Amino acid sequence: MGEGQLLLKLQETDLELVRHRSELNALPEIKSLAQKRKSLAAAKDELLRVTGRRKDLETYLGELDEEERLCLEDIEHAQEHAASAMDYSEVQDIEYELSQLAKELDKIAFERKDYQSQLEAISEREAKGSSFIAKLEKAILTAAQAARDHASGIQEDIERCTRTREKILSGLPADVQKRYEVASKRYNGLAVERLQGSIPSICRMTLTESSLNDLKRAGALTECPYCHRILIVEED
Ligand SMILES: [Zn+2]
Repeated sequence: MGEGQLLLKLQETDLELVRHRSELNALPEIKSLAQKRKSLAAAKDELLRVTGRRKDLETYLGELDEEERLCLEDIEHAQEHAASAMDYSEVQDIEYELSQLAKELDKIAFERKDYQSQLEAISEREAKGSSFIAKLEKAILTAAQAARDHASGIQEDIERCTRTREKILSGLPADVQKRYEVASKRYNGLAVERLQGSIPSICRMTLTESSLNDLKRAGALTECPYCHRILIVEED
């Protein structure tokens, strides 16, 4: 097989590959799998946020415990101090201090209640999020299996085309391969055309007599003077 025929075969194989790949992507199982994976990623992000908030609340509660401990210590000291107070103004100061400490204890108790109810709610969300993720991961495994089953036929076609492609490439010099790759990108997969009489097979522009003579002199592998695709002149 000449280089021109190999290039035509390569193009045909690549077009078939594109067809099979889009067939694969259009499978309903693949679409539903992609949707589930998207949901999973979103659920994981949300769980991370929720867990962060739960840890914050636990830290706040720990800080409140520490504040309360210090407060109770201060109360104990003030009470000891009161027992040995020497005069009325000292007693008044201590009473004032104790009333401030009592207010602080109230504030701590109030905040603790608030944080605890938030913690309860967020822990519930965390547990729900974790079990949702576990279920979704299981569903993804099942969906992936279904997609694999349905896709295996198409995958075999893709593998066959890929092998054909590699075999063709091994018969083409590097510069021709490069030229094809560049043209294939530029012309969206339709890089190579064949001269049929005086008409190239893709752009369908009738070539003049003098263009035809130039092309035939240029060799089997040339360039279309109109659309600049790779033009195969050789007859196989
Ligand atoms: Zn052309």
